[in-house]
Amino acid sequence: MRFLQANAIFDGKKFLEPDCILVLDSKNETRDILPPNAIEASRIEKWQGWLCPGFVNAHCHLELSHMVAQVPRGTGLPAFGKQIISKRGAFKPEEAAEHMQEADRNMWSKGIVAVGDISNNAASFKTKAESKITYHTFIELLGLNPALANVVFEQGEALVAEAEEYDLKASLSPHAPYSVSRDLFLLIKNWCEIKQQPYTLHNQESEEELKFLKGEPGGFDELYRFLNVDLSFYKAPGKWGLDYLQDLLPRSLSLLIHNTFASAQDLALASELNAYLCFCPGANAYIEERLPDFELFKPHIKKLCIGTDSLASNDQLDVLKEANTVMQMGKFQTEDILKMLSSQGAEALGLSQSHGQIAIGKNAGLNLVEYKSNQLSFLKKIA
Ligand SMILES: [Zn+2]
Repeated sequence: MRFLQANAIFDGKKFLEPDCILVLDSKNETRDILPPNAIEASRIEKWQGWLCPGFVNAHCHLELSHMVAQVPRGTGLPAFGKQIISKRGAFKPEEAAEHMQEADRNMWSKGIVAVGDISNNAASFKTKAESKITYHTFIELLGLNPALANVVFEQGEALVAEAEEYDLKASLSPHAPYSVSRDLFLLIKNWCEIKQQPYTLHNQESEEELKFLKGEPGGFDELYRFLNVDLSFYKAPGKWGLDYLQDLLPRSLSLLIHNTFASAQDLALASELNAYLCFCPGANAYIEERLPDFELFKPHIKKLCIGTDSLASNDQLDVLKEANTVMQMGKFQTEDILKMLSSQGAEALGLSQSHGQIAIGKNAGLNLVEYKSNQLSFLKKIA
């Protein structure tokens, strides 16, 4: 049994009473939280810094780890997509697997214990299955042509079954409003509601998305031309953001990524749908050179979480680095940032039974962090 004290202990939702003692068993499960002086001082490990639960990275694409430094910065989303599609297959599978394993180990060593991870194929399943990190895999589907909705959906179901053979938690998710037909959206929505599974979507990441959904020419038309996709079937909905999505999102658990161009009205509608909202500021700066208007998110503070996105659009998968950007640029309270990194991220991924909170009977990981000059830094993993 270990008895731990620190300058402060954040349990995932709040700071605990000063000087209280955390009791961990040999499996790192919390056995008790004792008042100060309940244990003889010589038996207590005292840590300089703050203890908090292991971090949750709510949005990642582990399978793109080999794309590090392959795409230039600041191209905007359609050109970024073009580069990813052109280059992602150019690596040998063994080489890509090595990059994934390294990225996975790096995340663990930086205190990340749970990840919401996008998969377009099975390439990352083995790495995730063998990892110390708990992954929720979102099988991401793309298909703008409604005639193909059923075929794409069935391929997705087959991939979910394959992930489950690796003992991975997995659910279906649409890629983005500019790459998924209404028919496919509805099939996925229905699947997630029936199975009560988490759902995620890239939302309002670029202004080009707005143009495409309004039916104005722009970068996505060009991307589809490049891909030789005949868009004669496409009818622009004329709506975008949550106005377009509100009938398409499941009433179960949904997580909207980026939201860089979301308005207050979009966020209010997301909140009515009980959706979680994920910041990925590193990727936003990398691809679009623009961050969300953080002030707009403050009324929805309990629904916010943080992700790294992939190594194609970020230099590292360090969710605490992203959190520091959000804290500084968005002027958020440290306590709110710690909630985004732990309990709220776990809730958004449907993992709150096991992650995101220090509570009796749970092993949610335990990190030691330092808070100095409005910056959190990771010191070490304690459990
Ligand atoms: Zn993403």
